[in-house]
Amino acid sequence: MRQAGDEVPRAVILFGPPGSGKGTQAHLLKEALRAPHISTGDMLRERIASGDALGVQVRELMQAGRLVPDEVVNQLVEDRIGSGDCAGGFILDGYPRTIQQAVELDGKLKRRGFAPVVIHLKVDYNKIIARIAGRRQCPVCGTLYSLSSNPPRRPDLCDEDGAVLAVRDDDREAVIRERLEAYDRQTRPLLEYFAATGNPFHELDGSEGSPQEILSRIAGALRLG
Ligand code: AMP
Repeated sequence: MRQAGDEVPRAVILFGPPGSGKGTQAHLLKEALRAPHISTGDMLRERIASGDALGVQVRELMQAGRLVPDEVVNQLVEDRIGSGDCAGGFILDGYPRTIQQAVELDGKLKRRGFAPVVIHLKVDYNKIIARIAGRRQCPVCGTLYSLSSNPPRRPDLCDEDGAVLAVRDDDREAVIRERLEAYDRQTRPLLEYFAATGNPFHELDGSEGSPQEILSRIAGALRLG
């Protein structure tokens, strides 16, 4: 995660609308950087699976395509980035999603000595809807597939562990539209916030090319050898 000349470990923030490829790229980058992938969406899905009271509340919001309260996700991230495996840097996928989360994150990163770098994956909304509709996820290991650009080797089965792939509840079209609306209203304004902080910011085309080609663009922006 550190490269020659880096003085501090980096927090790579993958930013973009739902379906822009953040999860897929985070999985690939995790291997390339040997750094943990922190997905608030995955952490919240684990919480739902636990079936506790908070999990029930989270499930309702997620199924409606709405954001979970800032305090909930801020606490999850606070606990996660304090673990030992994050000390050399980490990849954030799906966080921050509101200005309040971004302000909190800035404070956390400064206190803990991480340098933020934002990668914005730009993707056309029509492509997003088509892309999400073809998305499948392994319910066991979380690996993501796309029926068009990155299908599993055997239809409907995970390459890693053979589990039957699932469509996420919030990947149905009506919910996708809600999620895009939440992005427009609450998350997109972060672009101005990022610009105002002056931290490193890279805007990349997340529409064209294979996942590996998009990964190369990200690696170039991060100046990975
Ligand atoms: P994702 O897997 O990142 O697409 O997230 C799926 C859903 O989890 C979102 O639609 C939200 O309901 C919730 N979620 C994930 N990350 C956040 C976050 N940073 N803030 C609020 N809600 C979140």
